[in-house]
Amino acid sequence: MKPPLLQRYQALLDLPAHTQIVSLHEGDTPLIPMPRLAQALGSGFELYVKYEGLNPTGSFKDRGMTAAISEAAGRGVQAVMCASTGNTAASAAAYAARAGMGAFVLIPQGKVAAGKLAGALAYGARVLQIEGSFDDALGLVVEASQRIPVALVNSLNPYRLQGQKTAAFEIIEALGRAPDWLCLPVGNAGNISAYWMGFVQYHQLHSSGLPALLGVQAAGAAPLVLGHAVEQPETVATAIRIGKPARGEQALAAAHESGGRIVTASDEAILAMQRQLAAEGVWVEPASAAGLAGLAAEVAAGRLDLGGKTVVAVCTGHGLKDPDIVTQEMLAPRVVPANLAALEKEIGDL
Ligand SMILES: *Cc1c(COP(=O)(O)O)cnc(C)c1O
Repeated sequence: MKPPLLQRYQALLDLPAHTQIVSLHEGDTPLIPMPRLAQALGSGFELYVKYEGLNPTGSFKDRGMTAAISEAAGRGVQAVMCASTGNTAASAAAYAARAGMGAFVLIPQGKVAAGKLAGALAYGARVLQIEGSFDDALGLVVEASQRIPVALVNSLNPYRLQGQKTAAFEIIEALGRAPDWLCLPVGNAGNISAYWMGFVQYHQLHSSGLPALLGVQAAGAAPLVLGHAVEQPETVATAIRIGKPARGEQALAAAHESGGRIVTASDEAILAMQRQLAAEGVWVEPASAAGLAGLAAEVAAGRLDLGGKTVVAVCTGHGLKDPDIVTQEMLAPRVVPANLAALEKEIGDL
């Protein structure tokens, strides 16, 4: 077994000396080649998915959470607090449990996918539904953490981004260099900022190259594309249903510096891409398909020529997080009598 992320990349992570590693063996996720999807999208290029759904709690949030909780543990913190669209909640709950700390989680009422809420509850967090949006919940935890002795573990916490840089390191090590393009969903904009920090840092040390970043927001929650906050963000991709990204400026600067950009994808395009990924064996939650949905739209519109290029799409969370989106949309499976004749009749000629 490989050592925990924070130990493996210790020299590259800016964490205080008091940090005490709290790990569930996060990271080390696969980079999966997607030849059929690449072909469907057009001109010859190499496409890989960085499948972050295979982290311990099913999303990339675990990379940042191991860092945030390890730092907090090292200074004897008793409890952590976060606002979440779901995955941060599950991750904070798991790592707090691992560290023997309490966890308070604020989520927007009725807007969190079933697998995420179940996770946060299963790991024993105190979950509170806020009558408001994620942005309201984030404002509240920022205020509360200044008055109550809890550690804030949203991506405003700088250690989260340190942990999340490790995904960029893993991609470079798997490919032997940075890809030409990296596409990923953008919500609160911590992850795209962390990737850029990671790629730049590795390049300065090892001349590994720099990708252009294509950040993708859902069309109904696209403050960074519109250039202003969105008061009532709306999208099926609940993980990126955010109207006031905490790290918006940093994300825009990263995309610009990289020679890339931030674009939108419609809910229809996101769900269609979720199906296309699943058709090649990779089931992700809707937000996780947004990066590729945006890439596909850019290629189709002739704004992106990928001929001969290497592209990595970050698929941020597992499909199991949001089962309802699939079961609601499709017909319930047919009920068939338990005999071979009935089965053969259903299957028909192959
Ligand atoms: C948190 C999250 C995002 C968005 O990441 P940000 O750092 O908030 O931009 C995207 N997809 C999934 C599955 C997430 O959990």
